[in-house]
Amino acid sequence: MEDLEAILKQGAMVFPVHGITEARLCTCRKKDCGSPGKHPIYPNWQRQACTSLDQFDSVKRAFGPINYGLITGGASQIIVVDVDKRDDHDGAESLKIVESKYSELPRTVESLTGAGRHIFLRIPERVSINNRVGIFQGIDIRGEGGFVVIPPSRHHSGKEYAWDCERHPEDISIAFAPPWLTTLIASRNEKQKSDWQGILKAGFSSGTRNCSLTKIAGHLLGKGVSFEVALVAALGINEKRCFPPLPSSEVFHIVRSIAKRERGKHDGI
Ligand SMILES: [Zn+2]
Repeated sequence: MEDLEAILKQGAMVFPVHGITEARLCTCRKKDCGSPGKHPIYPNWQRQACTSLDQFDSVKRAFGPINYGLITGGASQIIVVDVDKRDDHDGAESLKIVESKYSELPRTVESLTGAGRHIFLRIPERVSINNRVGIFQGIDIRGEGGFVVIPPSRHHSGKEYAWDCERHPEDISIAFAPPWLTTLIASRNEKQKSDWQGILKAGFSSGTRNCSLTKIAGHLLGKGVSFEVALVAALGINEKRCFPPLPSSEVFHIVRSIAKRERGKHDGI
């Protein structure tokens, strides 16, 4: 548990997340779990998160091999740059390009995940940084209302989450996020806001309806809006702004598929 203690000493608020069994199944025991080893055990995890290790003893007895979540944003005063390498995008490459344009991220705590790495950065008190999915290709920002899975946890691929030994929380402090990064996150939010106003005003023709409703559903669900509310909004936009509107069943399918995808993204990748 030294891995956990080190990050707790730096102010991280943590909570139990479902883990992965030897048979590589999620401890929630649902056959069709959409986010194995990445979803909180308790629904009120945001209120339960704390800096104590004791909270995990009884949970482990009940669930077995649990994983550990770190709440990002104001609670821990930590945000995470989530860099992923997948078939269609390489976050590490994107990060290099962004760093060469602005400046390198400071030397800070980092962990290796199943598909890439998490870079931990401190934010000043009372500063709020939102979650930003896909701020650059292969890069998400985990901020207010989000979380990441931290070592010692197991990824559903069988890999273990581990601290980068050169950037272990026992040896170095979490560095402050550079102003260029926080400004960039905020400005991307603003840009998206104004884009939506223009898009909605213009409305969608038959060639763009599907794609636009997908974007809108992604935008809402990415902000933590519930499936039900996003569906009502998408149905309303379809009715008033699509010419002609799509069948309601198609709108339902669009929102449901994005909700599934977003749940995966938000469950502490
Ligand atoms: Zn599960």
